[in-house]
Amino acid sequence: METTLRGVGVSHGVAIGEVRHMGTAVLEPPAKQIGPDEAAREQGRARQAMEAVGADLNARGHLAGGEAQAVLEAQALMAQDPELLADVERRVAVGSTAERAVYDAFASYRALLAGAGDYLAGRVADLDDVRNRIVARLLGVPMPGVPDSDEPYVLIARDLAPADTALLDPALVLGFVTEEGGPTSHSAILARALGVPAVVALPGAKELAEGTVVAVDGSTGEVFVSPSEEKRAALTEAAAARKAALAASSGPGATSDGHKVPLLANVGGPADVPAAVEAGAEGVGLFRTEFLFLDDSAQAPSEDKQVEAYRQVLEAFPEGRVVVRVLDAGADKPLDFLTPADEPNPALGVRGLRSLLDHPEVLATQLRALARAVEGLPVYLEVMAPMVADRQDAKAFADACRAAGLSAKFGAMVEIPSAALRARSILQEVEFLSLGTNDLAQYTFAADRQVGAVSRLQDPWQPALLDLVALAAEAARAEGKSCGVCGEAAADPLLACVLTGLGVTSLSMGAASIPYVRTTLAKHTLAQCERAAAAARATDSAEDARRAAQAVLSGE
Ligand code: PEP
Ligand code: MG
Repeated sequence: METTLRGVGVSHGVAIGEVRHMGTAVLEPPAKQIGPDEAAREQGRARQAMEAVGADLNARGHLAGGEAQAVLEAQALMAQDPELLADVERRVAVGSTAERAVYDAFASYRALLAGAGDYLAGRVADLDDVRNRIVARLLGVPMPGVPDSDEPYVLIARDLAPADTALLDPALVLGFVTEEGGPTSHSAILARALGVPAVVALPGAKELAEGTVVAVDGSTGEVFVSPSEEKRAALTEAAAARKAALAASSGPGATSDGHKVPLLANVGGPADVPAAVEAGAEGVGLFRTEFLFLDDSAQAPSEDKQVEAYRQVLEAFPEGRVVVRVLDAGADKPLDFLTPADEPNPALGVRGLRSLLDHPEVLATQLRALARAVEGLPVYLEVMAPMVADRQDAKAFADACRAAGLSAKFGAMVEIPSAALRARSILQEVEFLSLGTNDLAQYTFAADRQVGAVSRLQDPWQPALLDLVALAAEAARAEGKSCGVCGEAAADPLLACVLTGLGVTSLSMGAASIPYVRTTLAKHTLAQCERAAAAARATDSAEDARRAAQAVLSGE
């Protein structure tokens, strides 16, 4: 019998197929004692396995490229962490087998992470994945992860570890459904980068029996279990019609009456550029430079290495606009050389611009590298700071840009409610704003981006979030400056119309979403978008806001 489950749709498209579960078995090795004469051999086995898993993760990263590469390389660093290895060796020295020592050492590290607040807790899934890989290797059993199948399937998982998401084969994995994760979680961002339909935060997904046929609608968040023939036909037909319309979509972003809204791409480095160009991005609205820094979290990449990476992205958009965000370290993107190790709540600690102002030499090097990279190129470079809280922050950033001799526009991201509330004062120091709605939602609703249980509050349709967007956009308009959106909100076609109606001047998103947004925007006038925005803001919940905007835009 057909039933419908509801989660959060995070990546557009429809996938119909049989369910396959992710291999997440936690391999607990027996607590067997070894003799002192076996210790050296077991230590060698452990060392070799940790080294090999690190190398494998690096190789997978190399294959995947882009943002995924940085995530996998961060996991490789965990596998090859010298302190973890020392702990494993100590445990073997007092009688553990290699696999048991790895299991126990990771467990004690895991407990530390899980109890240490937001960002560290968010890394637990990555750490478990690394542990499972090492233990599986030592036990000689298959690696946990994506199921072996020659037939296409819908993947079900509790939460996808970056190592697996990065290697999902879009030809084989029709779509995926996870129990955990919110609309701005890592898995969601990666799904959109891959162009795979996905639904997250669906409690009970793991109860779906292996082989059950489901239809996943990544736009609405609905998962139809054992869908009827009619339902399948209707969904397939709608998906085909949408695909045909998208294939025909090209050109700059604009409403049907010609109000221009440049559609830009979010990239993590040069590897993401081809997809952005193919999707017809008019430039880059968010270059997350921290991904270049995750290679080696002990030190910043050299100025020359940075120049090379920035230049590759800048060269891809001659005459286009590229907005580079300076390093956003801390919270969910920690770097050993910048991020304090003992913060009780890293999301509220020294992250983003705050860590750069504490380490002015890192900021100065990055700005100098950007100044060198843009030399002689026709591209229109803009540089912005993450996590700007007030005018003092904005001034400090603008001063640093001027001191570096950078000829670019300087801007501030609006990710903290205070920045939206006092946007006009921030605009006295910088020339543009860019709304990071992922963090803005997190801080407005006190709801961790990584936690599925609070994903309701992470919904960018929340009227309170729309109010803050409106405040920032109105302030920019009053100052004659621009205000874009580069958070995941911009990737929702209907919400993109509402954001346009709120006065946002550009939209930046993962490349795969650009055609959807372009097509939807082109169907509506600016006045309709403004009415939809007003209708959404007049409601008291995300669901009602979505419904109200939909009603206006469909002319009901
Ligand atoms: C945001 O917070 O909306 C944003 C774009 O930055 P990130 O997702 O990298 O934190
Ligand atoms: Mg952010």
